Amino acid sequence: MTGVEARERRVRTGGVELCVAELGDPGAPTVVLVHGYPDSKEVWSEVATRLAERFHVVLYDVRGHGRSTAPKPLRGGFTLEKLTDDFLAVIDAVSPDRPVHLVGHDWGSVQSWEFVTVRRTEGRIASFTSLSGPSLDHFGHWIGERVKRPTPRRVGQLLGQGAKSWYVYLLHTPAVPELAWRGPLGKRWPGLLRRLEQVPGDGYPTPSLPSDAAHGAWLYRDNVRARLRHPRPDAYAHAPVQLITPLDDAFLSPRLYDGLERWVPRLTRRTLTARHWVPRTRPDRLAGWITDFVTSVEGGRPGAERAGGGPYADRFAGQLVLVTGAAGGIGRATAYAFAEAGARVIAVDRDAEGAVRTAEMSRLVGAADAWAETVDVSDAQAMEKLAERVHRDHGVVDVLVNNAGIGLSGSFFDTTPEDWRKVLDVNLWGVIHGCRLFGARMAERGQGGHIVNTASAAAYQPSRVLSAYGTSKAAVLMLSECLRAELAGRGIGVSAICPGLVNTGITGTATFVGVDAEEEKRRQRRTARAYGVRNYPPEKVADAILRAVADNAAVVPVTPEARGAHALARFAPRVLRALARVEPRL
Ligand code: NAD
Repeated sequence: MTGVEARERRVRTGGVELCVAELGDPGAPTVVLVHGYPDSKEVWSEVATRLAERFHVVLYDVRGHGRSTAPKPLRGGFTLEKLTDDFLAVIDAVSPDRPVHLVGHDWGSVQSWEFVTVRRTEGRIASFTSLSGPSLDHFGHWIGERVKRPTPRRVGQLLGQGAKSWYVYLLHTPAVPELAWRGPLGKRWPGLLRRLEQVPGDGYPTPSLPSDAAHGAWLYRDNVRARLRHPRPDAYAHAPVQLITPLDDAFLSPRLYDGLERWVPRLTRRTLTARHWVPRTRPDRLAGWITDFVTSVEGGRPGAERAGGGPYADRFAGQLVLVTGAAGGIGRATAYAFAEAGARVIAVDRDAEGAVRTAEMSRLVGAADAWAETVDVSDAQAMEKLAERVHRDHGVVDVLVNNAGIGLSGSFFDTTPEDWRKVLDVNLWGVIHGCRLFGARMAERGQGGHIVNTASAAAYQPSRVLSAYGTSKAAVLMLSECLRAELAGRGIGVSAICPGLVNTGITGTATFVGVDAEEEKRRQRRTARAYGVRNYPPEKVADAILRAVADNAAVVPVTPEARGAHALARFAPRVLRALARVEPRL
């Protein structure tokens, strides 16, 4: 294993010899990682080294793969029953007295579903984390129900999954897959993985790939048709299951897992924006979720309890989320929304007390953990130090919300260079610093992420009294669009949020230029009253922010007036220009 000493042993079972590797403290809870097709145990190397800090990690090459020997003859040598024998032989050797935590990817997950739903392994499996590989029995029932009671939606689901399964039909043809894998496909596969799946090229796949893939074709031939035609009626999981679903999986539709609760009484769901080979592309996230799940099961609190609540718990639980301007308004509501979903939240604001309060409340409403940081986002050096601190203490941020901002209203000619500097420093430079410092680390990690920038409807809706504020927000909108284009290839999404009038404290602190202090106070009060009457709650903007991250939305106008102005900007810009001339009565 890369970077960590693995201990190896051979386990004999059913006429084959399995190559088993162990990492970490044998006294700690055992996590067994089962690889898929066409892979060997090395697909887990990045996840295994991370898990080995806390657990006894065990990996083995499935029969016929890597350095395990192949059954003779191959036909009939890869049935789920035989694979279950192998699994039992491995855990007898590595953890005879204590149930293990099972993790499977792809075919490793398909076979693990068998392990966790047959009676003879009962009491031997403490938990199961499934990645991109359904139970063939559940799949068989899923197909059967849709064929028996076809509605247009169900037929669509069948056709959708049918199209994603093209390779399964190919693997059932005799000899062709073997010839392809031992020939051109075997040579081109590493390049294809890099291009299509964004798998980093770091010593994976191993040179055994052509023979792994040729042998592994029998996994399909020995099991798929038989099980899909005659799925077991009693394939109930006897251990808690954590289902991790990559949403951009080219081979499996997330719909396959609809109704899985019927088979799995203790189910925790997780989703992430990623393609199929998550053990290579998202090792940090997987190791985090596996660690949380195993720890909660070991602590007698099977999964779901620690998973956070709300509609986005499956997506954000355990993720590291940093929100600027989190001491009030939209930022605070956003911190709470991520906290409710079980995220780890860093609340950043120049208002120290407010940030601490947000962090405390975040913990109370469900955050896996929460911290406060006092920083002025316009201060480049302070932001640099913040990024270093966060990286050192908590790791790479998964979701960054550049939200801190200030308001300024009045005539262009009354706006001094100092006023301009203030607005641009916070509203634009604050966002630039955030994107540069946290975005760079996200990109460098190469495991995806998301950046949210709070712009405003003022980014596309001109106004005679918002030249400085509108300019700062238009710049944030364009920065977000450009960055989105640049980072798309690295799995990092960028969203610009464009709220209209939202009832927050911003009106009370906004600068009104061209008037004396007393008049400024009066205007602040009047605007605050108007926003209060409009009464659009910041919680709804927070909701829109979580949805934008989950859906990787590019530009999100929030509030009806912001959506209306967005439509006008596209289809009737002259109307917006006419409205821009109207002087607001304050
Ligand atoms: P708010 O005043 O309630 O909250 C803003 C927070 O940012 C405050 O806690 C403040 O202390 C913090 N902040 C300000 N300058 C900072 C700095 N230099 N460094 C660190 N923190 C700083 O305002 P809000 O309405 O929640 O605004 C949040 C974002 O939404 C802003 O970018 C704002 O421009 C934008 N927005 C607000 C509205 C609205 O109607 N409220 C509409 C569109 C866009």
